[in-house]
Amino acid sequence: MKLTEKEIAELAEDCISNFLTRETAHHALLKIGINPALIQDAPDERAYYTNIIQFLCSHGQLENWLTELSKEGLKFTQEWEIIDNITQVMDLSKKYQDQALQQSILELREKILVLREENLKLKENLMSLQKQKEIEDVLIRVGNLYYKRTDEKKEHPYCMTCWDYDNKLVSVILYNNITTGNKCFRCTVCNARKNK
Ligand SMILES: [Zn+2]
Repeated sequence: MKLTEKEIAELAEDCISNFLTRETAHHALLKIGINPALIQDAPDERAYYTNIIQFLCSHGQLENWLTELSKEGLKFTQEWEIIDNITQVMDLSKKYQDQALQQSILELREKILVLREENLKLKENLMSLQKQKEIEDVLIRVGNLYYKRTDEKKEHPYCMTCWDYDNKLVSVILYNNITTGNKCFRCTVCNARKNK
């Protein structure tokens, strides 16, 4: 049993999101005794890392490569190491023709993949909360509008509803009401929402 195409694609994606460079990838290949020239070249990084992963899978070296990358500070590797590990155990168990054992291994593998998905979602949620917090920290409310603290002249107001309602910073348009002469503002997003 090898990694599925989807898993390989996800792992390649993880390489990209971990800012893996070709140089680091090659360095890790050399460390495990594989000549990078053996890997089929590809113009874009995603395709190239896919080639590396496929090559390593078929040579039973993926885990070793991931271990080397983790020494370089890449953080995605642990779950993948476990998945690759299980994949190898699965291959071994096939030799013994033990159906029950194979079934347990498959289930274990599934559980890890589910945990991995959850972990990714949690990380994403955390990041968006952190971003939200960062923005909240620089906003001040004046009347029914938000301004950034750095905007001392209060020239760039943001819609209060849009931020409070769905955490979007939307600039409002200021204008003078011709009949009353009062200063008014209009949010195009809120207007569009009303007209729905
Ligand atoms: Zn709005």
